Amino acid sequence: MGEKTVIAVSSPIQVGGSLFTPEQLERIGTIVGSSSKIEMTPFRQLYVEVAAEDRDMIAEELMRAGLEVHPAGFVTKSLIACNFCKGAEDAGLAAAVRLNEAIAGIETPTPMKIGYAGCALGTSEPLLKDIAIVKMRDRFDLYVGGEPKGLKTSFAELLAAGLVEEQLVPAVLAIIHFYKANAKGKEKFKKFILRISLEELKKAAIEENLDVKGIAQS
Ligand code: SF4
Repeated sequence: MGEKTVIAVSSPIQVGGSLFTPEQLERIGTIVGSSSKIEMTPFRQLYVEVAAEDRDMIAEELMRAGLEVHPAGFVTKSLIACNFCKGAEDAGLAAAVRLNEAIAGIETPTPMKIGYAGCALGTSEPLLKDIAIVKMRDRFDLYVGGEPKGLKTSFAELLAAGLVEEQLVPAVLAIIHFYKANAKGKEKFKKFILRISLEELKKAAIEENLDVKGIAQS
């Protein structure tokens, strides 16, 4: 293999969680070849090393097999969703799928993880993610600033409660773009929030971007 690059491969957001079929795993192995490294990341993506010149062809083949392919590195990762054990409707599968389509693979100053839980049990550990959405009955609460790494760990804090489904994508995109526009160099998202304050982020991402009527803000 000449020049190499890494692609992030994941299974679709679905009931049951990060499920791969035997055929999909077989396709990955066959397409990338025996000399490639395949890494299981802690954020539910496989990092697959491929020849740079074959990247687009391989990505297309994997997508044809029902897999998702995104860039690796300093980007938003695919949505880290729960297993939807309460069923697609109750746990908000459609909302999570739309969110994943909108947010996965956006270049950011540092890698960002965005979590989703279909109920308050939060078995996907949403409050340890940079941005988290938790479905509460028929509405959604939005949290920011979870930091699981290092010795100064912290839970994400509530930014807005009671969002309706249509507000999720605009709110999360507004947060990401505000971070991109205002971060200093490779400033981590948690540090960024501490510097600019939760209130400023709330104003930029929620109050100036959404019709806030009916949203119970923190
Ligand atoms: S967060 Fe709730 S709906 Fe999702 S897998 Fe956990 S318990 Fe089930």
